[in-house]
Amino acid sequence: GIGVVIERRFREVNETLLRMTGYREDELIGQSSRLLYASDAEYDFVGESKYIQIREHGIGTVETRWRCKDGSLLDIILSSSPIDPSDFGTGVTFTAQDITVRKEAEEQIRQLAYFDSLTGLPNRRLLLDRLGHALIASQRSRQYGALMMLDLDRFKALNDTQGHDVGDRLLIEVAQRITACLREGDTVCRLGGDEYVAMLEDLGTDEQGAANAAEIVAEKIRSALNAPYALTNDGQAHFSTPSLGLTLFLGHDTPIDILLKQADVALYQAKDAGRNTSRFFNPAMQAAIESRMALETALRQALIRNELQLFYQPQVDQDGHCVGAEALLRWRHTRQGLISPAEFIPLAEETGLILPIGQWVMDTACAQLKTWEAQPQSRAWQLAVNVSARQFHQPDFVAQVRASLEGSGANPQRLKLELTESVVLENAAEVASRMQQIKALGVGFSMDDFGTGYSSLSYLKRLPLDQLKIDQSFVRDLATDPNDAAIVRAILAMSQSLGLEVIAEGVETEEQRAFLHANGCHVFQGYLFGRPRPIDEW
Ligand code: C2E
Ligand code: MG
Ligand code: MG
Repeated sequence: GIGVVIERRFREVNETLLRMTGYREDELIGQSSRLLYASDAEYDFVGESKYIQIREHGIGTVETRWRCKDGSLLDIILSSSPIDPSDFGTGVTFTAQDITVRKEAEEQIRQLAYFDSLTGLPNRRLLLDRLGHALIASQRSRQYGALMMLDLDRFKALNDTQGHDVGDRLLIEVAQRITACLREGDTVCRLGGDEYVAMLEDLGTDEQGAANAAEIVAEKIRSALNAPYALTNDGQAHFSTPSLGLTLFLGHDTPIDILLKQADVALYQAKDAGRNTSRFFNPAMQAAIESRMALETALRQALIRNELQLFYQPQVDQDGHCVGAEALLRWRHTRQGLISPAEFIPLAEETGLILPIGQWVMDTACAQLKTWEAQPQSRAWQLAVNVSARQFHQPDFVAQVRASLEGSGANPQRLKLELTESVVLENAAEVASRMQQIKALGVGFSMDDFGTGYSSLSYLKRLPLDQLKIDQSFVRDLATDPNDAAIVRAILAMSQSLGLEVIAEGVETEEQRAFLHANGCHVFQGYLFGRPRPIDEW
């Protein structure tokens, strides 16, 4: 199409231009040329670049986008030359060439070049490109990523017996299921055949943590691909399983082609191990993953088999009288014996098992309180229960505490929840309101391991705490480390000004007790007064 614009208004337009844009002549003549542009930004951009080009070359050519009368968009190349070369500000003659078709062809070429036509997933070329970017990002952030290669067990057999249509349908469905298991930024591509590669990024700065996270995704994908498929119209269910190989990457430590080989080797190890499973390239990592998985399975059974037990460690006042206890969880493993919570609480948190375990602890502790209430010497004792971050943040935590209290009939005043600073750090406002709700039930709060986290006064003031628990690491070296002594003194002074009770944990010697007492701490817990023991040994 051809036209003339003078002082930014259409003066002349030809038939072709009218056909291209869908406007009538009288709708354009006299109107601002802005009318045809897809946006103000587009209009301004064209105005500027045209001006510069005309000034330098006598003619301006830009690619831009118009909006037709019916609202549809039109990609065009616009060439303008001034009517009066000595004063090109006044008006131009322009030619507009429709390049929508060319644009579509370009997009199609891009699709063909970078995407797999069967599944619509990125292909090897795009994967390599993204992997290159991921390595750069990882180099900068020092965060691990993982490369996961998977293929379908016995895919060839299905393809041969059921036909290629059915095979293709399976490949498409698999692509969708893998995509659904990944986060937004992760990439999955089809290498060809029944081979897929997924790239996971931002798995954290800790190697084993990254391996665990990758393993969790691999397991999610494996179980998603194990679900039945409806590939034929006869309603028959088809089954397929994948084998997966994993390797981690960090920055440019390992070149891309080696990474792909590592994932491939790991995939063959998964096949050798009997298929429908995943393997890590790094044998040490694989061993760590396996022992972790074995522990997880065992922990699941521990709940069912009643292998969990609460130990109770006394808390005493300055006269050595028992004022209560802390409930400490133990796992009596059939073969490994007593396992410390430090070993299995983190795993329980990661796997979500902390929720049923935490509920069991709360129920058991409340039942114990009820028993104590029936006896004169223990009637006033308080019981402290540890609550982990994941447990505290679950939506129905308040309801669970209430249910434990009501189910047992225990006096809420005797229950005290121990939180760590990691619990209260994120989302302080929400934490405070949740604590208020529990406080309203009559339950108290103690800040466990105090001094090891961020210990800021501002959050202490906002939270409805009753007690600070000085961490045992400060108590341990009180006699020898002047720094620790200073910290303990500061904590005691601060808690006094905030009106908080203080308890010291890990008190093992008379010397430590005396120092603490002299500086204003009047409640103690530690081996000096008693180790954690089962209740029937109390
Ligand atoms: P914590 O709450 O800070 O518990 C204190 C730890 O110090 C306990 O270890 C206890 O046995 C130990 N301890 C007590 N007195 C002394 C002492 O005089 N010297 C020394 N060196 N240690 C002493 P434990 O029982 O192994 O528990 C470790 C951690 O596991 C606990 O630290 C707590 O964070 C967590 N935990 C325990 N039970 C539970 C529970 O039921 N739920 C949750 N979420 N976490 C729990
Ligand atoms: Mg504790
Ligand atoms: Mg502690």
